[in-house]
Amino acid sequence: MSKERIIFCDFDGTITVNDNIVAIMKHFNPAGWEAIVEQILDKTISIRQGVGEMFALLPTSRKDEIVEYAINNAVIRDGFKEFVDYCKEQNIKLLITSGGIDFFIYPLLKPFAIPSEHIYCNASTFEGNAIEILWPNHCDEHCKTDCGMCKTSIIRSYDANQYERIIIGDSITDFEGAKLVDTIFARSHLIDMCKQLDYPYHSFETFFDIMKQLEAEPVV
Ligand SMILES: [Mg+2]
Ligand SMILES: [Zn+2]
Repeated sequence: MSKERIIFCDFDGTITVNDNIVAIMKHFNPAGWEAIVEQILDKTISIRQGVGEMFALLPTSRKDEIVEYAINNAVIRDGFKEFVDYCKEQNIKLLITSGGIDFFIYPLLKPFAIPSEHIYCNASTFEGNAIEILWPNHCDEHCKTDCGMCKTSIIRSYDANQYERIIIGDSITDFEGAKLVDTIFARSHLIDMCKQLDYPYHSFETFFDIMKQLEAEPVV
């Protein structure tokens, strides 16, 4: 019996052309955000801690501006709509596994027919003076990375004996997940990681590239 295909697809820098969190920070430019990014990249602090600290620099009084900017600034990568349709036709389970934040993820994914229970991301509240990020999808007992939104916990919940697990991603939030799956579709920093660790991967520019490769490769 062949396995069922399941795809864990990143959002920022993958479904969207750019990273929305970085775009928000660059645009509103609160003092100190760049130092926090450096600390995340050199692993002095966890992704969860860093993302939480960055958003805590933004006052909730600017909520409308921030939400509007995030939504209007994002560009969806070519072929994504067709890719969502393709997965549906082929009975491939498509999960959006994103370290991004609900206030831009849900509006940006609204035009696509993706059930909300297939979308995993961080949450947020604007009730205090500064934006507070909430973490409904935290790490399980096997993950010590303090991801915030833990992709490996979600991937592990789909048995490797039953599923052909595929990740699509671009950056640090995908590194640990990529180590678990059968197939990696990579861009940017995720390509560098694959090269360093000598992992096989497929690079992509658009979702058409991914569909082509999925068609070419029979389900394992
Ligand atoms: Mg990303
Ligand atoms: Zn984790």
